[in-house]
Amino acid sequence: MKEAIFYEKLRNNSVRCGVCRHRCIIASGKRGYCKTRLNKDGILYTLIYNKVSSWPQLLHGHIRKIRELILPTVVFAFLSQVLLLHDKVF
Ligand code: SF4
Repeated sequence: MKEAIFYEKLRNNSVRCGVCRHRCIIASGKRGYCKTRLNKDGILYTLIYNKVSSWPQLLHGHIRKIRELILPTVVFAFLSQVLLLHDKVF
């Protein structure tokens, strides 16, 4: 666990996280709304340091690239080969 950044200490070992718009106030021993930040005795820790936390977005980006760039290229190459084989080149 690594101590988080962007947080402020409040009374009674509570902290306020400042990473996103939720601005969670987290009591000691509890986690924020995202479940990735833990308040342990008044110190906020990140539970996902050095880990990718947005696989769906990454996958979506790759799927979009495949759909928009690679797939049309493969289809064009395949169809041009089919047309060449049948002597129907433009
Ligand atoms: S949702 Fe997570 S990152 Fe956002 S303010 Fe709450 S604890 Fe911090």
